[in-house]
Amino acid sequence: MLKRIHRLEKEIANKIAAGEVVDRPSSVVKELVENAIDAKASRIIIEIKDGGKSYIRITDNGIGIHKEDVRIAFERHATSKIKDVEDLNTILSLGFRGEALASIAAVSQVELISKTRDVESGTYLELHGGQIIEHKDIGCPNGTTFVIKNLFYNVPARLQFMKSKATETSHISDLVSKYALAYPDISFRFINNGSIVFTTSGSSSIVNNIASIYGKEIAKSMFYTSNRQKDLYIEAYISKPTLTRGNKQLQVFFVNGRYVKNQILSDAIEEAYKTLITVNRFPICFIYLTVSPNSIDVNIHPTKTEIRFDNELRIKDFVVNTLKKRLLKENLIPSVSFER
Ligand code: ADP
Ligand code: MG
Repeated sequence: MLKRIHRLEKEIANKIAAGEVVDRPSSVVKELVENAIDAKASRIIIEIKDGGKSYIRITDNGIGIHKEDVRIAFERHATSKIKDVEDLNTILSLGFRGEALASIAAVSQVELISKTRDVESGTYLELHGGQIIEHKDIGCPNGTTFVIKNLFYNVPARLQFMKSKATETSHISDLVSKYALAYPDISFRFINNGSIVFTTSGSSSIVNNIASIYGKEIAKSMFYTSNRQKDLYIEAYISKPTLTRGNKQLQVFFVNGRYVKNQILSDAIEEAYKTLITVNRFPICFIYLTVSPNSIDVNIHPTKTEIRFDNELRIKDFVVNTLKKRLLKENLIPSVSFER
């Protein structure tokens, strides 16, 4: 029988779309941490239980959400970050799609507590599967807290395919580490099942953060270099060729402050170290690249981790040359020092 076409109910449409943005606990953490950064927080606390499956709490001391906006914040395509098509060309915020909160809310139980500086009391909003359960005034400090409970409780298929608590925990830990490195001016604290995993001070150097997160041994073995070429600027912390890993987990890229995955940058590292390292070993590199915002496309994937450069060859050459130059000098310049 020929079935007639109808528009999907909002609830089911949101649930389907949620899969694009939220596919595991770490994607919830990513979106909420990015929102906290966009809210100009100087302190972000990330707490998880059971690999984030049962509990994720993100607390920030940022600008908060306007009392009257807490409901619309959970609507799809609702954002305070862009307005016009032109804004897409000069995005400075990490978010702009207005999809994260709607997606997260569709597949979990959410509590939001938020207060802006200009009001006396804050707002509490609780949603289950996107449906509002409770909305009231509440006393709370300035800033925003999101509690995400029982992720995918209403999406049995997803729930079934979630990885172990240990795997999800390591994904989240990895992610939070990268944000802590990308934003040395923000203090990050990561708490797992009630114990503090690491804290960064928010006023320290990147190399001290590397020490806080990955340990002093790694921090001690890193070389620092920087370079500028017209609109391109790079700062890089790169390991001695003797300090390598069996995978690329510790090759981390930030472009205009955004943590990204990018094949061009990955290839650049490989090329720079080519003659210095045996096959299947990978150096540790933290690379901070600044380019003009209109020379990259950040809109190619909903989670925005992938980016595309206009001129890939130029970027690659720039990175390869910078790293090579530093590696050639390796024996001449002492490694960066860090406070004990
Ligand atoms: P986007 O970040 O793409 O704008 P989100 O769905 O992540 O979309 O968030 C919707 C809106 O909710 C944001 O534009 C912002 O105004 C507000 N918001 C979300 N999280 C926070 C936060 N931690 N602090 C202040 N405002 C927030
Ligand atoms: Mg967002």
